[in-house]
Amino acid sequence: IRSGAAFPFDNSYVGLPERFFAPQAPTPVTEPWLIKLNEPLAAELGLDVEALRRDGAAIFSGNLVPEGAEPLAMAYAGHQFGGFSPQLGDGRAILLGEVVARGGQRFDIQLKGAGPTPFSRRGDGRAAIGPVLREYIISEAMFALGIPATRALAAVTTGEPVYREEVLPGAVFTRVAASHIRVGTFQYFAARGDTDGVRALADYVIERHYPALKQAEEPYLALFSAVSERQAALIARWLHVGFIHGVMNTDNMTVSGETIDFGPCAFMDAYDPATVFSSIDQHGRYAYANQPAIGQWNLARLGETLLPLIDAEPDKAVDKANAVIRAYGERFQAAWLAGMQDKIGLAGDEDGDLDLVQALLSLMQAQGADFTLAFRRLSDLAGNDAAEPAFADSFREPEACRPWLAQWRERLSRDPQTPAERAITMRSVNPAFIPRNHRVEQAIEAAVENGDFSLFEALLSVLSKPYKDQPEFAAYMEPPKPEERVLQTFCGT
Ligand code: AMP
Ligand code: MG
Ligand code: MG
Repeated sequence: IRSGAAFPFDNSYVGLPERFFAPQAPTPVTEPWLIKLNEPLAAELGLDVEALRRDGAAIFSGNLVPEGAEPLAMAYAGHQFGGFSPQLGDGRAILLGEVVARGGQRFDIQLKGAGPTPFSRRGDGRAAIGPVLREYIISEAMFALGIPATRALAAVTTGEPVYREEVLPGAVFTRVAASHIRVGTFQYFAARGDTDGVRALADYVIERHYPALKQAEEPYLALFSAVSERQAALIARWLHVGFIHGVMNTDNMTVSGETIDFGPCAFMDAYDPATVFSSIDQHGRYAYANQPAIGQWNLARLGETLLPLIDAEPDKAVDKANAVIRAYGERFQAAWLAGMQDKIGLAGDEDGDLDLVQALLSLMQAQGADFTLAFRRLSDLAGNDAAEPAFADSFREPEACRPWLAQWRERLSRDPQTPAERAITMRSVNPAFIPRNHRVEQAIEAAVENGDFSLFEALLSVLSKPYKDQPEFAAYMEPPKPEERVLQTFCGT
């Protein structure tokens, strides 16, 4: 069935060569029900919000394909936990098409869980409600935190069961992304020796995401450098808020620099750089503190695919690509340190700042401090000495933080901001609210067990203003009690 023009589609990926994708319509479901429509986002994208309110269940379940959609499944490859699969592709995701938002930026509209595609292998093409709600909550939380991420446009239930370890309600998630092109998309063509395919993809990515590079002397090298720069900045931002992606395979790393694929991701409570949540990450490959190095490893895989375009002489191409990979390390370090300086309220820059930051992190780790709460309380302390006991209480032994506080105050005495200014800037980078894992799980459980979406709605509302004190939601700031702790997350497959 086709409907009226709820989406002003303007599709470009479908214009790439046929081998880039497989045309694929969504598979209808029996009883679609709209859990949630993100109306502000729909309006920003220039969609017909009225029509989506009316027909949302049908459209976002794939039962009603909107006019102008050219549904397709994208081809891609990828390294998963270090092992290469030459063919992954959208096994349960279907790109409906693209829209150009009010601001002029182009976005993909994709249904995730909309039925099998030629890339499904043994999968059923479906998604369970839990991972759909998790992606909805966390991707919107990332956006509100100011971290580049794909967004949630809608979630629906299908009325059909999906069979995992248990039988779960099926759901479809509608994702909005600057694009869905991944490192693994480049690898798909490179693995086939299809240099023309790599070049066509690179040209498309430059046009869509990095148009200024068309004028560069070496556009493909510049592209590699630009993607690396965005990833360095992105992963630094993850670390600043305690985010653990959980499955940083090359097929889950975008070339746009947006966070994508919120399967087993989670936020850290107590600070520990070795934190891992994903049940399938048994060796901690994607642990919190490994993320910058994994980013670099993934970028090296992207660089390999671009070598033939970077320079006709293989040795020169390798040297140029290696310089970009080295620069990634420096860019990450600079972005990370600048953000950490902001988190402890330093507007200036001194040689000892890195040590001061490291000393606080070591103390937090040794003393079991909650990462988010400790920085938020430090922000309060910056503007008001009376807030010191609350900060000190973040540590198992409150006295343990006094020597660090003395060093910090000594450093602040040479920094330009007034205490009041400093407290404001610190509170704008140290969130009060993150999607704590136990809260996410509670919201999912209420929805799955009782069809109760009130916790899901409450969480979305609190997390939409993460830097604002919301005293009525103070409980959402708190780390889990011992019995509430959720130590494992599962991939939504
Ligand atoms: P992910 O773990 O979500 O990054 O997915 C890795 C690969 O498995 C991608 O090619 C997905 O499209 C595919 N995949 C994941 N879940 C399913 C499913 N239920 N049915 C078909 N393919 C799937
Ligand atoms: Mg994926
Ligand atoms: Mg600075």
